[in-house]
Amino acid sequence: MHQPSDIEIARAAEKRPIREIGAELGIPEEALLPYGHDKAKVGAGFIAGLAGRPRGRLVLVTAINPTPAGEGKTTTTVGLGDGLRRLGHKAAICIREASLGPCFGMKGGAAGGGRAQVVPMEDMNLHFTGDFHAITAAHNLLAAMIDNHIYWGNALGLDQRRITWRRVMDMNDRALRQVVCSLGGVSNGFPRETGFDITVASEVMAILCLATDLDDLQRRLGAIIVGYTRERAPVTARDLKADGAMTVLLRDALQPNLVQTLEHTPAFVHGGPFANIAHGCNSVIATDTALRLADFVVTEAGFGADLGAEKFMNIKCRKAGLAPAAVVVVATVRALKMNGGLGKDDLGAEDVAAVEKGCANLGRHIENVKSFGVPVVVAINHFTGDTEAEIAAVQAYVRTQGSEALLCTHWAEGGAGTQALAARVAEIAAADRANFAPLYPDEMGLFHKIETIAKRIYRADEVLADQRIRDQLHAWETAGYGHLPVCMAKTQYSFSTDPSLRGAPVGHSVPVREVRLAAGAGFVVVICGEIMTMPGLPSRPAAEGIGLTAEGAVEGLF
Ligand code: ADP
Ligand code: MG
Repeated sequence: MHQPSDIEIARAAEKRPIREIGAELGIPEEALLPYGHDKAKVGAGFIAGLAGRPRGRLVLVTAINPTPAGEGKTTTTVGLGDGLRRLGHKAAICIREASLGPCFGMKGGAAGGGRAQVVPMEDMNLHFTGDFHAITAAHNLLAAMIDNHIYWGNALGLDQRRITWRRVMDMNDRALRQVVCSLGGVSNGFPRETGFDITVASEVMAILCLATDLDDLQRRLGAIIVGYTRERAPVTARDLKADGAMTVLLRDALQPNLVQTLEHTPAFVHGGPFANIAHGCNSVIATDTALRLADFVVTEAGFGADLGAEKFMNIKCRKAGLAPAAVVVVATVRALKMNGGLGKDDLGAEDVAAVEKGCANLGRHIENVKSFGVPVVVAINHFTGDTEAEIAAVQAYVRTQGSEALLCTHWAEGGAGTQALAARVAEIAAADRANFAPLYPDEMGLFHKIETIAKRIYRADEVLADQRIRDQLHAWETAGYGHLPVCMAKTQYSFSTDPSLRGAPVGHSVPVREVRLAAGAGFVVVICGEIMTMPGLPSRPAAEGIGLTAEGAVEGLF
């Protein structure tokens, strides 16, 4: 039987006009700013008026340590939202927007997969409503104002060797990682080294996703540190008077986008910060708006639970005053086998022993999530090749951990495939069993925060850091940044900083290579290992296979 591709399924979808999707949530037509017929932004005025309303229940979807293919967190977020809605609940989902870079690089979209997708997926994966372009423009306006300020006399005394603000572009382009700018003579300024990052790595992206309204957005943009003077004093975007114009460029982008799933469940798709050097989840505004309008909101955090869920709880929930009512940990038999030691080419045959071995990874994530005081359910995202014995092994293991694992077939069947999961999640969330608390208090010292995450989440023995790094953290504490949460950047493939250590490693240490202050976003980035902020394209980029059909439809996208 021909299994239709994601784009074939998405293209055949019968979409409802976006005003009907809004109406389901009680959003009046005049509060929707339509982008075509199937996408709309939700107006800031309407959102401001929701402030007094009670919030619905928030459900976080996270996962075990992934394999390179992704474990189906987005697919499961969509499937669970559809499942809840089929049960008659007022449900919505919240996910991130897609970056253009990966679209043209490796196959794999951001809209879910199979029968559990957000539509229009072509739009969502390509430009969408232009938010990322606005972020790129705001970021690069600040970059232009820095070099212009130096050109016209550098009244602020910026040390050109200590400018930390780079430029961004929403494309995978390794040629731009390191560049020399202002070449070509006196009228072009003072040559200096700089470089490009991908837009999703911009601090402006993280800021847009954490801001609560336009005032908060401008305050955060103003706090961005662009570099330092010779005396090491920080120079901010506010010092350069860039914050007002940046806010103007981002005014529309700050309003969340509303689309729908294949089954017409309302889907907020807004913002998309990197999950390594940033916190990796959709905007606070989208989540909060959805919670004021729906009884259940299902959302996703990037990477495995050691990174994504940890940051969701310790950064986003802390900052936005959110509290998840339940967490779904997605596991696949394939990824458990890989965590149990199998290679990518050995996943075809039944191997219950490897599944059982890999369950140690799942067990640790369950325990970690519970340590935030939130109940956990495991979703087994079913792949066609999984055998009954393998699935039974996962379920038996999860029972020994005091949780339960439900088999889900949403990729093949949509919301019909998550009925058991949805019923269980609704029951747990509605029972208000969660007693959520972040892992560490604001007052804890920055290095102590890093140690707390390394020991309690990664189960490392120690954190290794040079005196230089410890001194820098102290200096930020003295300068008044000690209350900030830390944003860990490490490999997503392991609890440790070594991507090849799968399963549930112990006895490892976490080396901190570098720390960066994102004063506008409001966190300290802690870099443990090689972190790429401008990806490259593979030898055969997906772009080679993308084009338009005679009818004008997009082809070759997933
Ligand atoms: P994540 O959010 O964890 O990165 P996604 O939900 O985006 O993962 O899924 C990654 C890819 O895997 C998508 O292309 C999706 O179509 C595919 N996928 C997800 N679940 C299944 C499944 N059960 N069977 C086959 N393919 C799947
Ligand atoms: Mg995803």
